[in-house]
Amino acid sequence: MDEIFDVIIVGGGAAGLTAGIYSSRARLSTLILNEGAIGGQMVLTDEIANYPGVEKTNGYLLAGTMKNQAKQFGCKIKSNLKIKTYELEGEIKRLILEDGREFRSRSVILSPGGRPRPLRIPGEEQFKGSGISYCATCDGEFFTGKEVIVVGGGNSALEEAVALTSHAEKVTIVHQFDHFQAFQHAVDQASNNPRIEFIMESELRSFSGNGVLQEVTMEHLPTGKTSSKSIDGVFIFAGYIPNTDDLKGIVQLSERNEIVVDAEMKTSLPGVFAAGDCIVKRYRQVTTAVADGTIASLSAAEYLRS
Ligand SMILES: Cc1cc2nc3c(=O)[nH]c(=O)nc-3n(C[C@H](O)[C@H](O)[C@H](O)COP(=O)(O)OP(=O)(O)OC[C@H]3O[C@@H](n4cnc5c(N)ncnc54)[C@H](O)[C@@H]3O)c2cc1C
Repeated sequence: MDEIFDVIIVGGGAAGLTAGIYSSRARLSTLILNEGAIGGQMVLTDEIANYPGVEKTNGYLLAGTMKNQAKQFGCKIKSNLKIKTYELEGEIKRLILEDGREFRSRSVILSPGGRPRPLRIPGEEQFKGSGISYCATCDGEFFTGKEVIVVGGGNSALEEAVALTSHAEKVTIVHQFDHFQAFQHAVDQASNNPRIEFIMESELRSFSGNGVLQEVTMEHLPTGKTSSKSIDGVFIFAGYIPNTDDLKGIVQLSERNEIVVDAEMKTSLPGVFAAGDCIVKRYRQVTTAVADGTIASLSAAEYLRS
């Protein structure tokens, strides 16, 4: 492709779409290259009730609105692709896809987000999609009237456990600590739900079944005692891994493989910015991704002007 874009955005989640809205509205020629489905983790979220100005929505709708907004301002979006090579050092950045297509730009915003962290215990790979899920919105319905476990103690785990009770008969939250790392309203909602039970200070150790998941074993950490439990499904919300594997050695990453940025979302390379769940930060929310995307876009515009 001959065109040299002003901005190429890698990733079309909340951060990337926001950067796309701001950049294209500033009349910068803007292209989003997105690996998976547009919207990223937003489309995995059953209900988003904390996005200001929108009382209650599901992530799919919010993502669709952001995408339309970006397109209305002229942002180009290409999805379901894989970037093979990043050449980000010179004034003209080059991104080469696995299918050989090449895209060039004067600046790049990296917003590849993250993916769920697996437990990495025996049986997890085998029963993924056959009883083990990382997305209540996608798979909750398959467990209508059944009994499921939710692993985790953060906001996602508690909120998705509550969402699962509209399908599952019983939801047991298994958490490794004796307290939750979630906002109090999420803890209250889960605690007050009669279909939710809690097993604290415990970790799953293995999954087993005959073709589909049927049983888990778990360890009570203070006593070391192991037990097994028959179960129809397990939903895992045990943290996330940044999608930065391909960026190792290209931009500076933290020891957790998050992209290191300053307050203006500048990375270690001139003309390369980053935004959203992929950067070093404490709170990963749609609002914070949107804020990062805004800052990255404005910083890219400033870089292009200078
Ligand atoms: C189950 C769940 C519930 C949540 N609930 C809420 C909530 O209620 N409220 C809230 O504010 N937040 C919630 N969050 C968090 C919120 O969804 C995220 O913080 C936010 O969506 C992150 O946006 P992002 O753009 O940084 O990344 P992502 O949403 O991860 O988007 C990244 C995009 O980049 C693409 N990509 C990845 N690698 C590449 C690559 N190499 N090249 C090109 N594209 C790539 C991905 O396919 C994806 O589309 C929830 C998250 C989860 C998982």
